[in-house]
Amino acid sequence: MRVAVLGAGVVGVTTAWELLRDGHEVILLDRRAEPACETSYANAGMIAPGHAYAWSSPAALKTLLKALYRDDLALRVRFQSDPAFWRWAVLFALQCTAQKAARNTRRKVSLALFSQRRLHAVLAETGIACGMRAQGALYLYRDPRGLAAADEKAKILRDAGVEVRRVSPEEAAALDPVYEPVKHRLAGALFAPGDESGDARLFTRALARLCAEKGAQLRFGETVVAFETTHSRIERVVTDRGALAADAFVLALGCYSAPLARKLGLDLPIWPVKGYSVTLPIGGSNNPPRLCGVDEDNLFAFANYGDRVRLTAVAELNGWDWSHRPEDFAPMLKAAHELFPQAGDWSKAEYWAGLRPMTPDNLPILGRGRHENLWVNTGHGHMGWTWACGTARIVADLLAGRRPEWDPSGLEPKPR
Ligand SMILES: Cc1cc2nc3c(=O)[nH]c(=O)nc-3n(C[C@H](O)[C@H](O)[C@H](O)COP(=O)(O)OP(=O)(O)OC[C@H]3O[C@@H](n4cnc5c(N)ncnc54)[C@H](O)[C@@H]3O)c2cc1C
Repeated sequence: MRVAVLGAGVVGVTTAWELLRDGHEVILLDRRAEPACETSYANAGMIAPGHAYAWSSPAALKTLLKALYRDDLALRVRFQSDPAFWRWAVLFALQCTAQKAARNTRRKVSLALFSQRRLHAVLAETGIACGMRAQGALYLYRDPRGLAAADEKAKILRDAGVEVRRVSPEEAAALDPVYEPVKHRLAGALFAPGDESGDARLFTRALARLCAEKGAQLRFGETVVAFETTHSRIERVVTDRGALAADAFVLALGCYSAPLARKLGLDLPIWPVKGYSVTLPIGGSNNPPRLCGVDEDNLFAFANYGDRVRLTAVAELNGWDWSHRPEDFAPMLKAAHELFPQAGDWSKAEYWAGLRPMTPDNLPILGRGRHENLWVNTGHGHMGWTWACGTARIVADLLAGRRPEWDPSGLEPKPR
């Protein structure tokens, strides 16, 4: 079958790879000059079943309400006039019950574990080097009550088969010596030995090159603007450079899947949730964190790719805005300086902001669209790197008419 994959972020490229492995003819199309130029560009890089909690939870609802009038939180809300935002916000709020948060968390963890296995299989098959570190993650707490509550909350992860251990400040410093000088400030940490990290951009670009070597046609610098359809099928996708015919189409456009899917009669409840990252080169005299993790009191994540260390933070509801200002990074830089002042070369920091394609239940949208030859693989929110290899396999199996190993029932795109 000739399949056009629309979008070359980590989700589109992994989908193209799985489709090629299944013997399809694949065309991978993106508006940018190369793969992973948008949200897959500089994310935290964590593969973290040990942190796969649903963001929509009773606690999030309270923080969301506070964020309407405060600007100093890790969750920020900017006023939006777009009715699509208010609709999404209501759907998000409806997911914030304890019961739904638990259900969504269990599903997120299960998809993360499946996807991690798939990622390992792709890495073993391709030999891609993307700064992977499989040494576990540390989730740090300064406040003993916060640590005790987190340990209790982690029961849901343990029940789902994820190992999460509470460790003392001394044990945290033994796991990662970067904490030796600051361990007196920590109450302790949760250690998830199965969590890992790697650079999603390096992975995506290397895999796209392998797709091309395997025969995929890569079309970059081409923007999807419309679709030519019959009642039941998409005939061609219309771009700013012409049109593209295929037997099947996969929509993997991250946040931009929603406005384009509307043209196909689909309602994808995705809203951009902005995050910020800072990347520092590591030189000889630096002392970066070795393990990835999260400073839970300041809600910033960090990962080490060997030659660089990355810090990420903030969930900001501010529409389709990619801009960033120095003050957006200030809280995370302050907290990072306290924990690892010698992490990297701060004078050569690269600043970035990206939009997480977030659904109200924080689960991706997977399955067939209203048209029989349209497949959707999008809405990966804050877990697109973690889930990409899993959801790519699931969508490739669905397209082939096979029952996927991980059951995506209920995640199908809904008609408008
Ligand atoms: C700060 C931050 C930290 C994160 N940390 C993590 C983490 O630690 N672990 C994790 O698992 N996930 C993390 N994520 C989430 C992860 O980055 C995303 O879920 C993932 O990158 C989404 O991938 P995607 O391919 O769906 O979207 P994208 O990477 O945005 O790809 C979509 C592609 O579609 C293209 N496109 C859009 N519109 C058009 C059009 N009209 N025509 C043609 N092409 C188009 C774009 O150019 C883009 O290349 C983080 C995200 C952020 C912002």
